[in-house]
Amino acid sequence: MNGGKGGNSKTYRQLNRGLMLKLVATGVCTSRAELARRTGLTKMAVTNIVSEMLEQHLIEETSVVQNEEVGRNPIRLKISGQCPKIIGVLVFRSRLEVVMCDFSLNIIRRETRVMKEACVTNSDGLMEQLYEMIDRLRKKERNILGIGVASIGPVDVKKGMILEPLYFWDIKNIPIVELLTERYHLPVFLNHDNQSGALAELLYGYGNEYKDFLFLGLGRGIGCGMVMNGDLYENQSGLPSEVGHTSIDYQGEQCTCGNKGCLELYATTPVVEERLQRETNNNYRFTRFCRESNDPAVEEVFADVMKKLAAALVNYVNILNPGLILLGHDGIYLPGNAIAVLKEEVNSRRFFHNAQEIEIKKTQFGADAQLLGGACQVLQQAFLGKLLF
Ligand SMILES: [Zn+2]
Repeated sequence: MNGGKGGNSKTYRQLNRGLMLKLVATGVCTSRAELARRTGLTKMAVTNIVSEMLEQHLIEETSVVQNEEVGRNPIRLKISGQCPKIIGVLVFRSRLEVVMCDFSLNIIRRETRVMKEACVTNSDGLMEQLYEMIDRLRKKERNILGIGVASIGPVDVKKGMILEPLYFWDIKNIPIVELLTERYHLPVFLNHDNQSGALAELLYGYGNEYKDFLFLGLGRGIGCGMVMNGDLYENQSGLPSEVGHTSIDYQGEQCTCGNKGCLELYATTPVVEERLQRETNNNYRFTRFCRESNDPAVEEVFADVMKKLAAALVNYVNILNPGLILLGHDGIYLPGNAIAVLKEEVNSRRFFHNAQEIEIKKTQFGADAQLLGGACQVLQQAFLGKLLF
């Protein structure tokens, strides 16, 4: 990924255009002067590229009315309403979601299907639903740049396939990139749900201020998206980080993965919900326990689960030294006192506990983090100058 600096050679024109589009889309720069400062390009080079993007209706100028004493109203740059739109897709165990959004990541339209209600139980059924949802969005807007899919794992990012997610009916082995490309003749990208959430945070969210952070998805599984040195961490294996199968007790219960004492045996949403129900004699769902966490019995369970979670996360922290850990998926419902315990435990157990405190908080995008991260896969390619438009 470009480290935020441009180049003045013509060879880099496409890259510079993408970088400037990114700076305007993400709200980092709103004027030519800011773009020149931020990119290190000459004012002339910035003016030329801005003029080109204005002509192409990718950006537009707006006049902001200010306090009269200030005098003139500055011209601000923003993404044009005529700029192409992006489609983001989320494949989750409980639901399918498709959004159309703009370059500033504003959601323009949304389609949602609950898996059970839509009776989706196999791969063909899932694709039929997705086609119908995407078709409905495209009827309203034809100027689409690409489609980005965020999916529960395991997925093979390189082959563009959803493999065999656990507890997912008979849905498996879907060459989703190939299928969507054939049908829509658009660039299509695929990544894991939590990697996608991390990407949304990197480009548009809290992660924008950090070079190294984790995006932790707490749900039926516990997964982790990773940003290292300002870029999404991926390696040759194409496999995601499995924080859920970090052992916190080497003599612990046998896990289905072959290891013992894995975090997922103690801290997934269903496990925590069942434990809370047992210890409080209430049949509430996880989210209600989160809302009513001032009950001492509930608070105690959450504190214990957070300590277990911290025991696993400290290993990641000691290896990677991230500045921030963001909580996504069901983590967005966690009560504040539970997150405080998690933060205290992680920071006091890490090796460098005199270093700057690691921030731990909920994702800025709530339940939409991974879905918007799907769209961000397309946006990232546009910002890198790799898509023609
Ligand atoms: Zn395991």
